[in-house]
Amino acid sequence: MDAAAHVLVFPWPLQGHINCMLHLAAALLDAGLHVTFLHTDHNLRRLASQPASSSPRLRLLSIPDGLPDDHPRSVAHLNDLMDSMRATGSAAYRALVLASSSNRAAYDDHPPVTCVIADGVMAFAIDVAEEIGVPAIAFRTASACSFLAYLSMRRLVELGEAPFPSDQPVSGVPGMEGFLRRRDLPRAPSRPSTSTAADDSGVVDPMLLNMGDCSAHSGKARALILNTSASMEAAALAHIAPHMSDVFAVGPLHAAAGTTRTASLWREDDGCIAWLDGHEDRSVVYVSLGSLTVISEEQLAEFLSGLAATGYAFIWVLRPDMVAGGTAVKMKILGLGGDKYSRVVEWAPQRDILRHRAVGCFLTHAGWNSTLEAAYEGVPMVCWTFFGDQLVNSRFVDTVWKTGVDIKDVCDRAFAVERAVRQAMESAEIRAAAQDMARQLRLDVAQGGSSSSQIKRLVAFIGELYVRDCHHTTTPADSS
Ligand code: UDP
Repeated sequence: MDAAAHVLVFPWPLQGHINCMLHLAAALLDAGLHVTFLHTDHNLRRLASQPASSSPRLRLLSIPDGLPDDHPRSVAHLNDLMDSMRATGSAAYRALVLASSSNRAAYDDHPPVTCVIADGVMAFAIDVAEEIGVPAIAFRTASACSFLAYLSMRRLVELGEAPFPSDQPVSGVPGMEGFLRRRDLPRAPSRPSTSTAADDSGVVDPMLLNMGDCSAHSGKARALILNTSASMEAAALAHIAPHMSDVFAVGPLHAAAGTTRTASLWREDDGCIAWLDGHEDRSVVYVSLGSLTVISEEQLAEFLSGLAATGYAFIWVLRPDMVAGGTAVKMKILGLGGDKYSRVVEWAPQRDILRHRAVGCFLTHAGWNSTLEAAYEGVPMVCWTFFGDQLVNSRFVDTVWKTGVDIKDVCDRAFAVERAVRQAMESAEIRAAAQDMARQLRLDVAQGGSSSSQIKRLVAFIGELYVRDCHHTTTPADSS
């Protein structure tokens, strides 16, 4: 491997995407490559309190996302972010790729960028790099099963199987004919799985079609990287492969990278682990709905009454922007049973919590990072999903992997939460399946395992792109 290969890693600027691509960056650094990690100015400012990068081969840069600083950048405004990234963000990105990939001048004392790994959600980032002559690889932070569902979106619409909360089986996603229902397909944030106001007009949210097209666009990149492992998602990977130039299944990346780096956009509570130390083995429910989910006070009340009925202690991640009336709501939760019974934090050290012996199950929105983090620690899940890939992931958790319980679209939710939490905390079958999966994932990321071998192959692939690129761009004057 040539040490001068230099990868520009460009995540979609949201927490779940940043975390996962940072783990990829760590794996590339561990393999000896140079990495530039590209944030938005807004996020880099929020991360300013984090420790500086620990490798001299890692550089953090940023570009504007084009939104005013006080813009909420929340799930309700994802279209604004997408539009401004496509306009302002892409112009700044083009200028940066041009300057940093120049073969004649090293940029900032780092060798020239030889390859881009861009979040596949930003199709423009693939095209811009290739136009400039820098080979681009797409990275998707979602599961292979949900990627395949997005890839099949136009076909699903043709078949009259658009996302909708019904039990009608779906035949339009290859390999999932036996168990996928319309209610398990990705839904747009504007029509979350908690919405009761859906109608079956067949009209599909343009955001879903756009995600489908973005997924297909990854076929134009030199390869697709997915944060999953062959042992979890062999069938979906096999169905994706014919649509892509190459596919690398390298996950779970948080476990594959030798060095743990985090980039939390919120300050992590540092008392959770000591609090858990004071509890019995597998006696605590960890509740987190990720970095984007917003819920109403009514939904919170449903969750709470279900959880309270189980009698289990819990840690609850309540981001400041997650529920209207934040402080009053927090007091309401805290009032449930005192400090020993409940702990409410704005942001938690999630992976440390999941690996703590006191945690018995994870009540989650089934975002892919959270799903992988729970899977790696062998923690049973209860999935209350909201939008996007979460709906597909939760079906796999419940029906394919059998490592948890899916309660999407359930009407009597308080009761459903109580029943599902008890099941996840107490079922020997679910726990055994979760632990089997964790054991297998440990083998996958260990030396010689499938994901670790795929990372090696990826590093060699990036090296080959670089060598090929040198041959293309070396002029007689350069070589003299
Ligand atoms: N996370 C965390 N602390 C929290 C809640 C979440 O560190 O209190 C991390 C979690 O470990 C995961 C990411 O935030 O890596 C959330 O990503 P995911 O794909 O699960 O959901 P999203 O936020 O994208 O909906």
